[in-house]
Amino acid sequence: MSLIINWLFPRKCFGCGQGEEYLCTLCETKIKNGELIKKDGFEGIISIFKYDGLIKDIIEKIKYGFVSDAIEEMAKKMARKLKIDYPNIVKYWQEKKYILVPIPLHPQRQRWRGFNQSEILAEKLSKELKLGWKNNLIRRKIKIKSQAKIKNREEKWKNMADIFQVVDNKIIPKKIILVDDVITSGATMTGALKALKKSGVNLGWGLTLAGVQK
Ligand SMILES: [Zn+2]
Repeated sequence: MSLIINWLFPRKCFGCGQGEEYLCTLCETKIKNGELIKKDGFEGIISIFKYDGLIKDIIEKIKYGFVSDAIEEMAKKMARKLKIDYPNIVKYWQEKKYILVPIPLHPQRQRWRGFNQSEILAEKLSKELKLGWKNNLIRRKIKIKSQAKIKNREEKWKNMADIFQVVDNKIIPKKIILVDDVITSGATMTGALKALKKSGVNLGWGLTLAGVQK
């Protein structure tokens, strides 16, 4: 399978077409940094890159081009940047034993895509950052409209409110880091944290590959 994937999508930089990585070091330096934001209910939400230009292209390619091994490479870059830009936060997560929790896709969408990019991110980040990770803590309740199709901010919030439910109350960790590929309005993250806080989570962070900045 990976041979076919490599033939269809040879591992070259999405930016310049050179090298043996999906994002070469030079093109990576041209991507704008993400930010650490404070949001209700969260200790903080960190996005590693600004959701813009090349990183936007890469995320689209991953999602719609089925290039799941590109997301593994992105997880490594995330971990490296986290250790450089937020060493104290990483240390805090390790000491307090935070658990990485991927935001689930709707099952239908996951079947179609074949993988959940947030799950791959969480799994790889867990290795790179020496943190635990747990999958399937929450699931999406109902089929909702694609957020991208809703322009109105308030509508987006309504659409996302109450869309997650906890799968098993007994296995919920106290301290978590929600992992997703992109944060836009923050409605998805907030919805997920709300569901988990009802079931025993005390402290929550958010961590994404890229973030839309206002
Ligand atoms: Zn490049």
